[in-house]
Amino acid sequence: MINGKSILKELTPYQQGMQTEEVKEKYNLDKIIKLASNENPYGYSAKVKTIFTEMENEFNIYPDGYTTELRTAIAHKLNVSKEQIIFGGGSDEIIQMISRAFLYPGVNTVIATPTFPQYKHNAMVEGASYKEIPTIDGYHDLDGMLAAIDENTNVVWLCTPNNPTGAHIPKADLYEFMNKCPKHVLVVLDEAYYEYMDPELDHHAIANLSEYPNLILLRTFSKAYGLAGLRIGYGVANENLIAKLEVVRGPFNTATLAQKAALIALDDDQFIDETVQKNQTIKQDLQQFLTNLGWPYYDSQTNFLLISTPINGEDAFQFLLENGFIVRPVNVPGNPNLIRVTIGTDKDMNLFKRALQDLQLHTSKEIQ
Ligand code: PMP
Repeated sequence: MINGKSILKELTPYQQGMQTEEVKEKYNLDKIIKLASNENPYGYSAKVKTIFTEMENEFNIYPDGYTTELRTAIAHKLNVSKEQIIFGGGSDEIIQMISRAFLYPGVNTVIATPTFPQYKHNAMVEGASYKEIPTIDGYHDLDGMLAAIDENTNVVWLCTPNNPTGAHIPKADLYEFMNKCPKHVLVVLDEAYYEYMDPELDHHAIANLSEYPNLILLRTFSKAYGLAGLRIGYGVANENLIAKLEVVRGPFNTATLAQKAALIALDDDQFIDETVQKNQTIKQDLQQFLTNLGWPYYDSQTNFLLISTPINGEDAFQFLLENGFIVRPVNVPGNPNLIRVTIGTDKDMNLFKRALQDLQLHTSKEIQ
């Protein structure tokens, strides 16, 4: 028996949402609509498609480990220096790198709950302890999080907008938090859903990074850019902080194809604008529908909604699965009825609304 870290006995691997083919086969269905992983239902920029043929002779060569071209483009777009950026195989890998560099036995980390589970998972793998502070109506309890910080706290994770609730961190609250947060604490601002947020709510923290050397922002090409399958995301922070993270980064951690696709996608503002616009219209329509059904939902600045169904979230998930929709059940203490639903295309959401109506009927029959 190989003796690994003892925590490995306690932890289980990441549980991905059910795969389409798996569900089709199991429930004998022709069509499955996946609304479980907050992917872009419109695909990705058509301009990206050209590279699949153009690059076919380059795959025997290692990628550029410094991701130079994409780095230059992002530095230009965000008006930061190239040394302020780090790339990962999705922001997942940057979360891993941060944990690897700054979390270890004897230190702790402060996390909201519910939030993206990888913060806690990675903290546990590194042997750090963690403090979970419940969100309030889906919003981070920043005062609660500040109060939880002590001299052994190394990292605080803020997710804005938050997965799975969808709520953002208001600008004034973020700066108040940053001004009160001790400088020995690294604050991670995970902005995986940044593009979907109302631009008026943007805190423009990147422009203020020189004031906050303990802040890192995470962004990804997996959501609005529609490149989840290529695995590429990045972090932006003070140069000294990035230099520390670079030590734990694998030498060729982002693939050539991912770098190239992201470079082209970054330039196609029109694709992002259209994606965001359609998402907003269809999300509002679903919200209205839920209001009419009398089902509560959380505020959302993202491409998903956290919905309180009339029955247990696992049962609602199962009912929808058998009707051809994959969603995510979410278990929050005190509210066991939640499902997280990605906003799909108009057509898919019309079908989904019918399924929700059936679920409503099914539950009212059960209650009678
Ligand atoms: N952060 C948040 C809040 C997320 O929801 C996700 C994906 N579900 C990630 C990070 C990781 O995304 P990726 O690794 O694809 O960039």
